[in-house]
Amino acid sequence: MLAGGGLAEAASLSTRLPPQRPPGLAPPVAPPAAPSETPQPAPSTPAPSASSCLRLLTEAGGNRVRPVRLERAPASPDCAVDEPVLVEALAPRHGGARGVVAFTPPVTLSCAMATQVWNWLDDAILPLARGHFEADLTGLQVGGGHECRRRNRAGAGPLSEHATGRALDIFAFDFAGGRRVTVEKPDGPLPERFLRAVRQSACGAFMTTLGPGSDAAHADHIHIDIQPRRSAASRFCQ
Ligand SMILES: [Zn+2]
Repeated sequence: MLAGGGLAEAASLSTRLPPQRPPGLAPPVAPPAAPSETPQPAPSTPAPSASSCLRLLTEAGGNRVRPVRLERAPASPDCAVDEPVLVEALAPRHGGARGVVAFTPPVTLSCAMATQVWNWLDDAILPLARGHFEADLTGLQVGGGHECRRRNRAGAGPLSEHATGRALDIFAFDFAGGRRVTVEKPDGPLPERFLRAVRQSACGAFMTTLGPGSDAAHADHIHIDIQPRRSAASRFCQ
């Protein structure tokens, strides 16, 4: 799907496979034949108690976002997602008709994380896209929405921020006109500058930003999350 050699492609694909159950977690309640957290559309009538976060995100013109119910209780209570939403596309709110940014594949995120990504696209990424390529950003190739797993798929250790829907992995940026900038192999100095600027802006917008050069697990994507930290000054940016 993405440009790259066999190994890199395999690594990239593996991040999109159903999550592997960390051995320390409780046994599944049903045979693991299907992905355990397949998002299900919520009933068509919105819940009367929809939060202001959900209302803002799902009712904004152009956004294709809907509340979802996770199919079953998560394997671990620590994997619960606060106000899960399925994000198919986000539309910028400022600057007129700049189209929408489609997420491929659609990802399940917490409402708070989806909102933060929306703000970041609006404030930083769409202007950066125009500034670098004179083209609108039309899509993100993403992965790593909600998955109940440990960091870097290790068998032990802390749960990943993906477990709570508070993290997103971005593999590539798509632009009007057909240009694609992949995180793993930007083709030239301009895409490289764009990606550097993207990461710099992410460091201000999110609590954690990782990518190529951070470690082997992030060689082909940018990881962003809103993991709460002791203070805003303890953001993790590599
Ligand atoms: Zn990640």
